[in-house]
Amino acid sequence: MPGVFIKTYGCQMNERDSEAVAAQLVAKGYTLAPSEAVADVILLNTCSVRDFAEQKALNKMVNVIAETRRSRPDTVLGFMGCMAQSRGRELIDRLPDVDLVLGTQKFHRAADYLDEILAGCAEKIVDVAAEPGSEATIREHLLNGNSQKAVTAFVSIMQGCNQYCTFCIVPYARGEERSRTIPDIVAECRQLVAQGVKEITLLGQIVTSYGKRGGDASSPNSPLHPQRRGVAATSNGKSPFVQLLDAVHEIEGLERIRFTSPHPKGYGDDLIEAYARLPKLVESAHLPVQSGSDRVLKLMHRGYTRARYLGIIGKLRRARPEIGISTDIIVGFPGETEDDFEQTLSLAREVEFDQAYIFKYSPRRDTPAAEMPGQVPQKIREERNQRLLEVINEIAGRRYGALVGRQTQILVEGPSKKNPARMTGRTRCNKIVVFDPAGRDHRGRLMDVKIIRAGSFTLYGDPAIVNL
Ligand code: SF4
Repeated sequence: MPGVFIKTYGCQMNERDSEAVAAQLVAKGYTLAPSEAVADVILLNTCSVRDFAEQKALNKMVNVIAETRRSRPDTVLGFMGCMAQSRGRELIDRLPDVDLVLGTQKFHRAADYLDEILAGCAEKIVDVAAEPGSEATIREHLLNGNSQKAVTAFVSIMQGCNQYCTFCIVPYARGEERSRTIPDIVAECRQLVAQGVKEITLLGQIVTSYGKRGGDASSPNSPLHPQRRGVAATSNGKSPFVQLLDAVHEIEGLERIRFTSPHPKGYGDDLIEAYARLPKLVESAHLPVQSGSDRVLKLMHRGYTRARYLGIIGKLRRARPEIGISTDIIVGFPGETEDDFEQTLSLAREVEFDQAYIFKYSPRRDTPAAEMPGQVPQKIREERNQRLLEVINEIAGRRYGALVGRQTQILVEGPSKKNPARMTGRTRCNKIVVFDPAGRDHRGRLMDVKIIRAGSFTLYGDPAIVNL
């Protein structure tokens, strides 16, 4: 049985895709190799969001080739995911030792293609074509193979994005928005809960656009047809995404629901109202703002203004005062002036984010922003990154510190990665809590802890009351 090693770069979607490909391969008789040093197949699941991520994967493959071609020349090597999609055959032209290039709509073909290559029926395979319906083909999870039961799981609900933000390569790498049906998603969630999962994160590039596009809804054969997908364009004023949240919320035994990534445009009153109405929907929202300047937001083609964004934050905090809010921010977007950047700093201070992921703008080929005038010099991007980081860290330190002495509910996920003698859990508002389990296995339990200390984006707790 060939052993497969998959190395993943990038976001949670990529993690989820790798997990699904691994599960698919295991179901077809492959084993999972503990390291690339003993693998018969090495796949790199790639990210294209930043140039740095692409270079990392390319360098990794160069090293893997140097290693395997010397000692194990029959090892099958492949790229999959976003960079595979956007570069296609160019990857094999550049690195002729690569055997497989698998695009983002072709993950479900991984086992077939590897079988062909391993059997000698095909030498090289490049498949980056679009495939209608591919969003519904991958749903396997690797839960059964784990010695410990999984407590949390990601469920892909849609793929692709039609927003075309001017800096972003995702619409080109992941294609047009395509959504799975509500019955299909709910069935997968039910199965996960039956296997012991307590918390589900609904995943997609722009989840708030779930069910809005992807075909001709009037055709009975379309996945968008109401009878096939169990979802209407709007029902009682509820968008398809909120209808999906309602359906998943019904699942007995499921304790928590999260979702990522949404778009601020999708935070209509129906979604805010869902936060107030659905107790399993946790007090946590990731709202990528990208900039605090209306001028830059327009250049980015984000589709909202600073005032609209702040309005959503206000409504969310009124619905759930304890809500944890995180964001993504780009500094040094083409044309960003010192005044624009100051507006981003002031927005960060006004919102008081619990967490923010800051990205120094890096041009992605074939995106409109890469050709825009006013590219900001690297030195200024670095300097703005540092200034914003200081503001974000100072605010987060204050917000985390304010939780010391309070009691909060966590879902225990398992041993801490840094210190396996300790356990980690996550609060409803998405903060990591590390605690000493005192010899007991609390994995999978909802329990109350008292926060005794706050570190950098980590809380330390003392178990107070265990809810068995
Ligand atoms: S909404 Fe998100 S995924 Fe879509 S183009 Fe914009 S940044 Fe990229």
